[in-house]
Amino acid sequence: MRRLPALLTVCLLASASATAILAQTVARTADPLKRGLKETDFPRTVKVTDNVYTYEDFHAGDEKFTTTDMFLVTGDGVLVADGQGSPAATKGLVDAIAKVTPQPIKYVVICSDHGDHTAGNASFPSGVRYLIHPTSKTAMGKNAPADSELVSDAKSFMLGSESIQVLFLGRAHTGGDLSVYLPRQKILFLSETFLNRVFPAMRSAYPSEWLGALSKAERMDVNIYIAGHGFTETGPVSKEELIAYHKALEAVIAEATRLHKAGVPVDEAIKQANFGEYSAWTLSKSQGPIAVRKVYEELDGKLK
Ligand SMILES: [Zn+2]
Repeated sequence: MRRLPALLTVCLLASASATAILAQTVARTADPLKRGLKETDFPRTVKVTDNVYTYEDFHAGDEKFTTTDMFLVTGDGVLVADGQGSPAATKGLVDAIAKVTPQPIKYVVICSDHGDHTAGNASFPSGVRYLIHPTSKTAMGKNAPADSELVSDAKSFMLGSESIQVLFLGRAHTGGDLSVYLPRQKILFLSETFLNRVFPAMRSAYPSEWLGALSKAERMDVNIYIAGHGFTETGPVSKEELIAYHKALEAVIAEATRLHKAGVPVDEAIKQANFGEYSAWTLSKSQGPIAVRKVYEELDGKLK
């Protein structure tokens, strides 16, 4: 096996037009300021590998964190995984893709059906092919793309010379959660199944099944995991952060379960819950109570 000299790797990265992710020590946070970034640095395009990029723009709301999309450039068009939360924001994504390649957008995978990832879909060019899980299509109702292809388990296909797998790893954040796996690059875009340093958001979640989806992702042959919220990380950091997220989800479920077992009523449990280090994560104040309610719902057998 021939090893590439380290210098070559550096040169390849340095020649990239978009921001390159370099192996360096980064603050483990979803907060752009704590990360050492400025609000004016966003939206931004991050070059992940030779032909895979992410696009990070701020989520609406006072607490700043990114909604992250992925796009793959091939010789026969572009595949996009997830959009942004408004037509203006998704137009930003479409324009950013046009800066990287003249290739047209051919596929859009709706990995999360939530509005912060789909409400801008009108800005994608007409004629793009949408892929969506049946549960998400139902959830979106009249907002679902009129003609879309349903993926209920897995779909593998080629675009140009690149192979793509759209996978359902199990119910997680929405119930219709799709991921995009690129086997050549060993990249897995997990959308909202992976919230990088963002408190487990459970409004429409399946808490215990979500843990199963994360375990599946961790067993796959992946070099870089990409989150649907939070920053794009380098490979080794992305693996650590996926595991950190898995631990956070486990801890939140365990704390709500402890209170449930002790017979604490849900409104009281919300006041008593102690999420430890995770109370410092982005959105903990708004999402903590929602998580407690959802875990109670599951333990009470009310989550179908
Ligand atoms: Zn979201």
